[in-house]
Amino acid sequence: MPRNQIPPFELKLTQREAHPERTVVRLATGAAFGGDVLAICAGPCSVESAEQIEATAAAVARAGANVLRGGAFKPRTSPYAFQGLGLHGLELMRVAATRHGLAVVTEVLDPRDVEAVSAYADMLQIGARNMQNFALLREAGLSRKPVLLKRGLAATVDEWLMAAEYLLLAGNTQVVLCERGVRSFDSNTRNLLDLSVVPLLATMTHLPVIVDPSHGTGIARLVEPMSLAGVAAGADGLLVEVHPDPASAVSDGRQSLTFEQFASLVGKLAEVAAAVGRRLPAPGLVV
Ligand code: PEP
Ligand code: MN
Repeated sequence: MPRNQIPPFELKLTQREAHPERTVVRLATGAAFGGDVLAICAGPCSVESAEQIEATAAAVARAGANVLRGGAFKPRTSPYAFQGLGLHGLELMRVAATRHGLAVVTEVLDPRDVEAVSAYADMLQIGARNMQNFALLREAGLSRKPVLLKRGLAATVDEWLMAAEYLLLAGNTQVVLCERGVRSFDSNTRNLLDLSVVPLLATMTHLPVIVDPSHGTGIARLVEPMSLAGVAAGADGLLVEVHPDPASAVSDGRQSLTFEQFASLVGKLAEVAAAVGRRLPAPGLVV
């Protein structure tokens, strides 16, 4: 091979052939990614207060979600923007999620925080900006907590799968991929949501794949149609931002759904899910 040619990436543990059956990632609450039942993850971009996360957990559980999302350690472009409530935010989220029978997925930004975040979370989110933070991948791989690995802002599918390979190589087989859009030339949407990777990945890997139409489009009214399209394309679940009052959200308000909009989305999802042989999760604890 000429010296300036990049060798093809060699998938070992993530490749389809390594695991003849598709991996099903199960959280401690029973929520699963990759089975017949979809994983519906919903909640605010950032945990802001006890009232905000409690109201959101109640609303998304009632609407049919089975996992509460929310950021306590936030990766912000500006160092002057809200950075998250940290461990206090995790405490608030854990209480709200448990009260409503939901699992918790939340981002871990720093390898030194993996243990602390694992004490509160059922699933560790590795964000787009950290997809190739290899120290973080290694630490999350050692933790044995299920991991949600988001696609990098400009990552190829090969690079994304190699990042997942780090997690599996460290011993963590509970990995879910999340398509959240990539940078494009068009600023009409925040990112370009690449739904073609959903069926593509099904041929390349045994790992489950979910779709995040909130970061994928950046626009609240596009979230419902792209959620339906994601499930129609074969996604194993969704990650959707929901806020009691999107206009006053401290982060990502423009792409966040109201409680009513989220309930309407889940209502429409059942039929699309049925058309592709999937079901919605059983209703959680409605308190
Ligand atoms: C998030 O889920 O709030 C987030 C920061 O996502 P991403 O890493 O995809 O930008
Ligand atoms: Mn966000």
